[in-house]
Amino acid sequence: MDKNFKEEFTQIVKFEPPLYKQRYQFVKDLVEKYKPKKVADLGCADCTLLWMLKFCSCIEVLAGLDICENKMQEKMHTLSPLPVDYLQPSERSLTVTLHHGSVAHKDPCMLGFDLVTCIELIEHLEESDLKKFPEVVFGFMAPSIVVISTPNSEFNTLLPGVKLYRHPDHKFEWSQAQFQSWALETARCYDYSVEFTGVGHPPTGMEKIGFCTQIGVFLRKYPQAGESVQSEKPTEAVYKTVFKAVYPSLKDEKYLQNAVIREVIFTAEIIKHRFMSKREEYSDDPERKPTSQPSMDYFTDYLGKLVIEKNMEPFASGNEVYIPLTTIFAFPKVKRLCGTFEKLCKLIAGKVTLSSDGSAVMFNIEHENEED
Ligand code: SAM
Repeated sequence: MDKNFKEEFTQIVKFEPPLYKQRYQFVKDLVEKYKPKKVADLGCADCTLLWMLKFCSCIEVLAGLDICENKMQEKMHTLSPLPVDYLQPSERSLTVTLHHGSVAHKDPCMLGFDLVTCIELIEHLEESDLKKFPEVVFGFMAPSIVVISTPNSEFNTLLPGVKLYRHPDHKFEWSQAQFQSWALETARCYDYSVEFTGVGHPPTGMEKIGFCTQIGVFLRKYPQAGESVQSEKPTEAVYKTVFKAVYPSLKDEKYLQNAVIREVIFTAEIIKHRFMSKREEYSDDPERKPTSQPSMDYFTDYLGKLVIEKNMEPFASGNEVYIPLTTIFAFPKVKRLCGTFEKLCKLIAGKVTLSSDGSAVMFNIEHENEED
């Protein structure tokens, strides 16, 4: 390449979206593809990737590890549940934990993960730690997938201002051949396959230079180790847990009960409202018969179908309106939350006003129209 062109070119190499976002997106895409339940991010720094991953609905356990406790603490509050998480608990469970420690040491809290990410980590490791790293990650943790990203030194000539390394804390930066040789040897040793890719495309015509960030995706070739094999691994804890958040989840009976009560009352209220509007219509014109015209309203149509097909009609007696629990249970959201009719009855018992035989939600409408 012409020297002048290269110099001019180095001024304009800029990635959009920025490279770090492309790396995080790469991990998110991998999570979408493989749907891991347990993900550990090694060298998690300020937890930005962990924060992005907490929105992936397949993930139930997220863990971060870093040797720098202060860095992790900068934004770790972003990993705590928000008020909305309590108002609308998710159907999945989610636990997020942060550990202070080194990837050169084994700790049992790192066992049982499906995916382990090491984004821009290895180039920060001292030679002695880099030597221990494969045994810790591939030998001890042994997840089904490992992702490792690291700078591609061949790209550096295109980056303005880079002299030796891209960052003063980098202990090395590898060419594509160096990274691939290390990765292939590691994969061979620990019975993984590895595929190479990257983010940050080289300019057209310079494809040989490779991606700005090179990535190896390692897949374990042998099946998941059973409990017995896991328990043979050393159990002495060496990491310090610095953060733990358990998100409210509908898998927890107390959140499920609140959600069911809210949904039952909400559904019953709407049914009651429709029922009373209809009653008023007929009392204005007693000759009119109920019509089966579609109402353009999903709820009313669904309710109409239930009433006609299954005889699950709400009814009034004196100042009371009764909405059968079977009608409420037939609504998809209530059914999905409770699973069975018996569970619905159990969860709302003593929490919602019911008819004396417990078969219907009861509303007293004596004062309902007083303000009209
Ligand atoms: N993975 C993050 C990302 O992509 O945004 C941050 C990468 S940062 C460049 C490297 C991180 O590795 C730093 O936060 C550093 O403290 C951490 N680190 C360095 N040596 C480590 C070790 N031996 N064990 C665990 N973390 C280490």
